[in-house]
Amino acid sequence: MAIHPRKSGTLRSAADLVAAGLLPPAAAAMAERVGQAYAVAITPTLAALMDPADADDPIARQFLPSGAELETTPEERPDPIGDAPHSPVPGVVHRYPDRVLLTPLLVCPVYCRFCFRRARVGDADGTLGPDEMEAALAYVAEHTELREVIVTGGDPLMLPPGRIAALVGRLAAIPHLDTIRFHSRIPVADPGRVGESLVGALRSVPGGPAVWLAVHVNHPRELGDEARAALARLADAGVPLLSQTVLLKGVNDRVEVLEALMRALVRHRVRPYYLHHPDLAPGTRHFRPTIAEGQALVRALRGRLSGIAQPTYVLDIPGGAGKVPVGPVYWNGAEATVVDPWGTGHSYSE
Ligand SMILES: *Cc1c(COP(=O)(O)O)cnc(C)c1O
Ligand code: SF4
Repeated sequence: MAIHPRKSGTLRSAADLVAAGLLPPAAAAMAERVGQAYAVAITPTLAALMDPADADDPIARQFLPSGAELETTPEERPDPIGDAPHSPVPGVVHRYPDRVLLTPLLVCPVYCRFCFRRARVGDADGTLGPDEMEAALAYVAEHTELREVIVTGGDPLMLPPGRIAALVGRLAAIPHLDTIRFHSRIPVADPGRVGESLVGALRSVPGGPAVWLAVHVNHPRELGDEARAALARLADAGVPLLSQTVLLKGVNDRVEVLEALMRALVRHRVRPYYLHHPDLAPGTRHFRPTIAEGQALVRALRGRLSGIAQPTYVLDIPGGAGKVPVGPVYWNGAEATVVDPWGTGHSYSE
């Protein structure tokens, strides 16, 4: 499937995408318009996984600009999960009592066409300057109720490994923190960056807070040889690995695809964590299944997969009220029955 050169750099313009054979020349004007509204980037690793001959290719669908992105529906909004109203200082989002998001930058290796922060990502000005980073760290240090810092963005593993190590060191010196959790797409999008220095920066120090990594993966084909090797380097270094998957129409909204993905994750020492219902980000209607469709998929997965391979299906409530599980309910209190994964009810008396 590697039909274009692997050595070239990240594809960013409509002309790059056409030259790489990923878009027909007739789509260049559309791609340019989309690119003016939302950041575009495709790494060589992901470009090589695409099959432009397949109109329904699940990798291409996630990253290639589409004219459908220019249509915004009334319920969509630029800040779908309400980051802004919960941001006490730049780069910090504090929604839950025990944990905060820290966003050192808003740059990603690849731009997902369904991104929940698509109105903000891709902006190099979103990188925290030294003073802003000090203010963010001071906020975490002052709020002694915090136990966990979730370093996200953008993609925090785009920072040079030395800066990541320095950030982990600063956070590790805050005595009330138990956990530092990174969220990243790098192991899939640009696995070559997961070298000794990056792995070293993520290794927990004995006695210090635990450093976890949640990897964003949506389709089993994203776990190619290079991505698997990157995950193995992280797991071998003792970095606990979680996954996040966005449930996406035309990408992974079939039970066979989700099953293969969750199996592949566990096979590569990644514990499936969340299956996200897509957020109401602008121009992403074409990616959103209904919640009822998502529940049917999750119910089917329950009948097919090991417990350690089951993600929690969650919705981030629009506006900033937080994430809640929206998976199927198996317990019917009125009838005192429990439904098994194959749909049969069983009585259960308490
Ligand atoms: C998603 C999110 C978290 C993390 O939530 P978990 O359920 O712990 O994964 C924390 N803070 C904010 C503001 C979030 O949006
Ligand atoms: S990696 Fe995450 S933050 Fe970056 S574009 Fe994709 S969904 Fe958005």
